[in-house]
Amino acid sequence: MPTTKFVLIGSGLAGGLLAAYLGRRGYDVDLYERRADPREGNLVGGRSINLALSTRGIHALEQLGIADEVLKHAIPMRGRMIHDKSGDLHFSPYDRDPNKFINSIGRAALNTTVIEAAQRYPNVRVHFNLRCTDVDLDEATARLINTETNETAAGRGEAVIGVDGAFSAVRQSMQKKLKEFEYDESYLPHGYKELTIPPAPDGGWQMEKEALHIWPRKSFMMIALPNPDGSFTCTLFWEFEGPRSFATTKTDEDVRRFFEEEFPDAVPLMPKLLEEFRNNPTGSLVTIRCAPWYYKDKVALVGAAAHAVVPFYGQGMNAAFEDCVVLDECLAAFSQDRQRAFAEYFSRRKENADALADLAVENFIEMRDKTASRAFRAKKKLDHLLEGLVPGIYLPLYTMVTFTRIPYAEAARRARLQDRIVYGSLVAATAVIVILFAIALI
Ligand SMILES: Cc1cc2nc3c(=O)[nH]c(=O)nc-3n(C[C@H](O)[C@H](O)[C@H](O)COP(=O)(O)OP(=O)(O)OC[C@H]3O[C@@H](n4cnc5c(N)ncnc54)[C@H](O)[C@@H]3O)c2cc1C
Repeated sequence: MPTTKFVLIGSGLAGGLLAAYLGRRGYDVDLYERRADPREGNLVGGRSINLALSTRGIHALEQLGIADEVLKHAIPMRGRMIHDKSGDLHFSPYDRDPNKFINSIGRAALNTTVIEAAQRYPNVRVHFNLRCTDVDLDEATARLINTETNETAAGRGEAVIGVDGAFSAVRQSMQKKLKEFEYDESYLPHGYKELTIPPAPDGGWQMEKEALHIWPRKSFMMIALPNPDGSFTCTLFWEFEGPRSFATTKTDEDVRRFFEEEFPDAVPLMPKLLEEFRNNPTGSLVTIRCAPWYYKDKVALVGAAAHAVVPFYGQGMNAAFEDCVVLDECLAAFSQDRQRAFAEYFSRRKENADALADLAVENFIEMRDKTASRAFRAKKKLDHLLEGLVPGIYLPLYTMVTFTRIPYAEAARRARLQDRIVYGSLVAATAVIVILFAIALI
């Protein structure tokens, strides 16, 4: 029997990983990427420089035996370090178990690792500088253009998989062709800009290394993740428009004043602040939902191409990696019926991707506003206390999302139920105490 050939579009994080999974199953894979080879110094511009990798993503890497290689370069982040306006710091651990932490990793290094993992299989070929313009769905053929020579080419297989990110050309071809294709995009009014805190003169870190730093300022915030070279990558999430926003903060003086008012403890650590603010791009934050994620046995979507989420739960890549695991399982379970495999993959992932999209937007409000409050810190302590009292039964939402592989939708449902029980019990207990107190006074 001839080997099935998959054409993958996009060798970002999920594309490289999926190519490795398919290669391991013995499929023939041609992976096309519009950018140059990242190993030739091509920067992954416009998206985050580092990311938080957690349990779901690590599990996906472990299946291919490359988790240790990736984690070798990671920096553990054991909790949130909250910076208030006066410069006071409050540390809030992510979990009651100090061995549970998230990992700061560089996007470029991870991208290279997954591409190299794919290339270990002789049946996987990776082609750079080839941009997909559209896909002939019925022929499972991607039309490509060489970004250096402008020559056109075609990538033909038994199936095309769009792993080409939030602005997927494969998805756009499905939108054009399929009348019943559902599509929804929603942009936050906030954009993001990346800035740097360089290493200290001795090469060390200028702030606590093993933490995700947050400067919550109600309607906006800045965060910082550590890098192995001693630097931090800071990301400012701020309104595009409004009286104080990216739009109104034009001059160096405006920028300096804004940062000195809002992030006074960070300013002395950011010698290139003004230059970076001027020169670094301002990215937008989009949630994309669509359905279905497949067409017959010919086309499927994976990762941000199927479900772009805003970055506030640190789960976009983790979820994209989980997609690869599930698609691989479905292709194994229905190896003779690819359409069934695609349908099964879609039905296992769609509800969870939708749940994650909601959780990610809600977590923006938690990070930029609630983390600053005493009530938030008290709630986290209560969460950890309850988790200790009834281990395995009470699990905080953050723990379920970040440190388990409980499907996102189930985690969200379980957290809602837990909250109802806990807050209902607290209200009932308070009422009993008040009544007993009143009786005692009579
Ligand atoms: C600021 C920010 C911070 C984030 N932080 C985290 C985090 O901490 N943790 C986390 O899990 N996730 C995080 N994410 C989300 C994460 O970046 C995405 O979920 C992840 O990159 C999705 O992977 P992907 O492979 O589906 O898409 P991408 O990584 O976007 O890869 C798509 C690839 O396809 C290529 N491509 C696009 N169009 C074409 C075309 N027409 N032809 C050929 N190639 C094409 C692109 O060049 C790219 O290489 C963050 C995102 C942002 C913006």
